[in-house]
Amino acid sequence: MAKVESFTLDHTAVKAPYVRLITVEEGSKGDKISNYDLRLVQPNENAIPTAGLHTIEHMLAGYLRDRLDGVIDCSPFGCRTGFHLITWGEHDTTDVAKALKGALQDIEAATWDDVQGTDIRSCGNYRDHSLFSAQEWCRKILDEGISSDPFVRKVVE
Ligand SMILES: [Zn+2]
Repeated sequence: MAKVESFTLDHTAVKAPYVRLITVEEGSKGDKISNYDLRLVQPNENAIPTAGLHTIEHMLAGYLRDRLDGVIDCSPFGCRTGFHLITWGEHDTTDVAKALKGALQDIEAATWDDVQGTDIRSCGNYRDHSLFSAQEWCRKILDEGISSDPFVRKVVE
């Protein structure tokens, strides 16, 4: 079976919340695609409940695109401790951490009308959303600060 970088990371050594560059892949025509680990809570100590994580997912989809060029996808980890962010090109982790911080602040300030995709036609499990949970978790993450380094706390302004 193929070795996957994410499973070689020592999850006991990291200090969440942080942004980590996982890989930069280059296509046959030279285009680059980057994959980031957006770790919102400490692995094996916390996990964001599904409804809150689901609402954060729907909101990051819009707010991260507003704040960062080349966003392809942002999807939650099965362990519910964070997200994969896939982008065209390469971004400094400081810039990604600042965009993430801004997006989480946007979520904190949002109302239910700001959440995209919350009906039966636009979501695969529209009953499982919680803006209350999303905002409570965003507040906790922002209080701790988002580091541009997974192992050493370098909290972005
Ligand atoms: Zn959904």
